[in-house]
Amino acid sequence: METINTTLLIIGGGPAGYVAGIRAGQLGIPTVLVEGAQPGGTCLNIGCIPSKALIHAADEYAKTVHYAAQTSPLGIRVDAPSIDLEKTVAWKDGIVKRLTGGVGALLKKQGVRVIRGWARVLDGKTVEVQPHEGSGQEPVRIRCEHMLLASGSHAVELPFMPFGGPVISSTEALSLSEVPRRMVVVGAGYIGLELGTAFRKLGSQVTVVEAAERILPAYDADLVKPVASSLERLGVEVRLATSVLGMEGERVKVRDASGVEAYLEADRVLVAVGRKPATTGWGLEHLMLDMNGRAVKVDEQCRTSMRNVWAIGDLTGEPMLAHRAMAQGEMVAEIIAGKRRWFHPAAIPAVCYTDPEIVVAGMSPGEAAAAGIDAISASFPFSANGRAMTIESTDGFVRVVARKDNHLILGWQAVGVGVAELAAGFTQSIELGAQLEDVARTIHAHPTLGEAVQEAALRALGHALHI
Ligand code: FAD
Ligand code: NAD
Repeated sequence: METINTTLLIIGGGPAGYVAGIRAGQLGIPTVLVEGAQPGGTCLNIGCIPSKALIHAADEYAKTVHYAAQTSPLGIRVDAPSIDLEKTVAWKDGIVKRLTGGVGALLKKQGVRVIRGWARVLDGKTVEVQPHEGSGQEPVRIRCEHMLLASGSHAVELPFMPFGGPVISSTEALSLSEVPRRMVVVGAGYIGLELGTAFRKLGSQVTVVEAAERILPAYDADLVKPVASSLERLGVEVRLATSVLGMEGERVKVRDASGVEAYLEADRVLVAVGRKPATTGWGLEHLMLDMNGRAVKVDEQCRTSMRNVWAIGDLTGEPMLAHRAMAQGEMVAEIIAGKRRWFHPAAIPAVCYTDPEIVVAGMSPGEAAAAGIDAISASFPFSANGRAMTIESTDGFVRVVARKDNHLILGWQAVGVGVAELAAGFTQSIELGAQLEDVARTIHAHPTLGEAVQEAALRALGHALHI
């Protein structure tokens, strides 16, 4: 068997691994990256990008349906809209192909050797790679000085309702050939609500079953209210505090908190009850690394408990977000190159692409109180924002949280159409240590949704101008 020797071996070519590879290449570190499926990982192939493409297509289609109802105050009229989901999926696949091809090209440009196949860990310095069946390539052994684990995560399966047949994960949901007539979604988290809403807009009858007492339990209640109202308007049935018991034929059996059982008819059942780090099936257990629950435990430099073995991305647990994975990957490459780096972000933003979108960065008022900080918070509603009126979406608000004593900004939250794009400004202001006065005195372009950011800061200081 051929043996390849390298300084850095990266296992997994998702956002964590491919960014580490690009940066390592830029820094001149001899690097080999092994990817068993497609470069780009979950995010580019079956996650962030394809889901946002489908959500966009669903939004566009829903607009035409709305115009066809001949009730739009804009005076736009459309006759008999229809959608060909196979074409939509082909368009989405085209975007995925362009981006994953781009990742391959960027790695090549930086001199990273990419080996396609599944790595199996033999020890902390050695892996064996089995090439894809039928690829005609031979297995190879790779020996390295530094091993970077970036194997990502998998969808959690319900043991009594495994994936297969009508029971699908987000992966299958993103590549359906036709819009299901009836869809049951298990889990009202990120995936359940992003994709459940999209399928409702595409024409499915959607029922969401959530074990907790409210949707998006990870977000604070005020932020979630406009999303709950929108689900109701769209006609998505939401069953809270309800457990799924299993499939009986084409029906999903559920039980609510008071013990009442019901059957929900379904052509497809999308199970979206979380993701778990990919720690098994590829010899990782041989390393006997310290764990943090189901995730690999890492320190503030992403070092595992074994010397020169590093772990990044979803494999290291929550928050399982692509931008966190990329930031960790870039940092580890720099540390291996001899730079002094630590993973101490002041905030990691999170965006939920529901209708309307939710964005958070830093602390909510509740989190600040729980941390014992004397904080002030203020919000500014989009109903008082001119730009929001011109795009027909006045639901939602921007909220700021700051220390009471010195006005240091601790967090931002927003809910509303298009607020995902506010994430950059929110996170920059926290990372740069801005105070309320800095944002309040920054001239914000008019008319933009961003003016609500300035107004929230002004309101926290007691002198908002437009409310
Ligand atoms: P992954 O992207 O999972 O990549 C790991 C890679 O490692 C895979 O390509 C896998 O094939 C490879 N691999 C694993 N084991 C081996 C092995 N033994 N040998 C060789 N290769 C191996 N995050 C956001 O920030 N924003 C979003 O909008 C968003 N939307 C999402 C939507 C969906 C439907 C899903 C499922 C996820 C979404 N996420 C989103 C989460 C995001 O996809 C992950 O946080 C991100 O992909 C994690 O990157 P990673 O590199 O750690 O892992
Ligand atoms: P999630 O953790 O966001 O939501 C899971 C939901 O399922 C929770 O509300 C939970 O209470 C519920 N649940 C758990 N067990 C259940 C059961 N047996 N019956 C009914 N409900 C149950 O998980 P997800 O939606 O699967 O997404 C996985 C991860 O992928 C996310 O945590 C996030 O890290 C990532 N993601 C991010 C984005 C984004 O950034 N926009 C989008 C999609 C996915």
